[in-house]
Amino acid sequence: MTTSAYATTNTFLKRAMDALAIDPSYEVLLVTPRREVRVELSIRMDDGRIGNFIGYRVQHDNARGPYKGGLRYHPDVDLDEVRSLASLMTWKTAVVDVPFGGAKGGIQVDPTKLTENELERLTRRFVDQIHDVIGPLADIPAPDVNTSAKIMGWFFDQYSNRHGFAPGVVTGKPVSLHGSLGREAATGRGCLVAIREALAADGKKLAGTRFAIQGFGNVGSFFARLAHAEGARIVAVSDVKGGVCAADGLDVPKLVEHVKTTGSVIGFEGALPMTNAEILAADCDVLVPAALGHVIDEKVAHEVRAKYVLEAANGPCTLEGADVLDERGVLVLPDIWANAGGVTVSYFEWTQNLQQMRWSEARVNELLEEHMVQAHVHLRAMMKRLNCTMRTAAFALAIERVRAATDLRGLG
Ligand code: GLU
Repeated sequence: MTTSAYATTNTFLKRAMDALAIDPSYEVLLVTPRREVRVELSIRMDDGRIGNFIGYRVQHDNARGPYKGGLRYHPDVDLDEVRSLASLMTWKTAVVDVPFGGAKGGIQVDPTKLTENELERLTRRFVDQIHDVIGPLADIPAPDVNTSAKIMGWFFDQYSNRHGFAPGVVTGKPVSLHGSLGREAATGRGCLVAIREALAADGKKLAGTRFAIQGFGNVGSFFARLAHAEGARIVAVSDVKGGVCAADGLDVPKLVEHVKTTGSVIGFEGALPMTNAEILAADCDVLVPAALGHVIDEKVAHEVRAKYVLEAANGPCTLEGADVLDERGVLVLPDIWANAGGVTVSYFEWTQNLQQMRWSEARVNELLEEHMVQAHVHLRAMMKRLNCTMRTAAFALAIERVRAATDLRGLG
């Protein structure tokens, strides 16, 4: 049986706590979310019926700063998954050293079945139900799976209707509505910095390296574009509908145009079809799961042909899958570092909102690079110190930082 998402995250955490020989009395405090909110969301659908949905916000830890983390809209959203994702945010913000804690939220809904008006009403209702536990200095949501800048704009507006002008309550907003330049591409850009650094540590370069990318949403598509521009070969790409491959590398700018006009990567001229499952076992140097969690299980992990797995998605490996990849000597760049570019630039957006300033895109990208590279230096040092995987090192680095803040603040 596959271990649940939350139990998986807690096992990774426990391994790092054991490696650090942390006083076991910290365990409950570091593992358990501080607050879990579940709300009923009833809205009027366009046809007059009442639509009922469930929303969650889990606030995991705020020792290092306000709770921070995205909102996902997906039919599979449940409390176990949101807990796991909230916990991952605590460790992620600590790994890249941005002054936040961790949280996550979501609504159990298939957003493709809702009209834009229904989606807006649902988002505003969600804000109404959780507005008293969030805020620019308390808990700051952001985009995640199936949530966009437009949705963050509605979120900001609804919160501001109740509390006055407060752009810092949510990040990932449209650039023309207090968003930050560079935020949309940030997760993909951070992923690129992560793999560039990991390859360089092995004496390798991005140029000519072959990537297979599962997922062509915000993260996968920006990553593909940026990697392609650096001379990397994108040999396979998939989205929810299917995939395409080309051994010599896909023409990514043309593929992006194709997706814009047809809504999917499938049918891209000059490429061969490939299923979503085949992508994970594709012949490549770096596998990039950039869609949903738990796609690399024990069986898939045995089939992975890549030497590196870049966790662009949150929790793409099951516990069993992660262990197989480690045993097989695949270097896994863990989600809590690899995809931390998004929350890093969310921090810059929040800073700009609090200061009522706009930074240039060049400044945003330069500072993003600095946070990602610095984290890599610290991760390598921790891997050496504990003689452990990069994932355990990432959790260990984060645990030390969260524990230090917890101790300094005191338990009251
Ligand atoms: N949803 C993104 C993540 O999982 C971004 C979170 C944020 O910017 O707060 O890291």
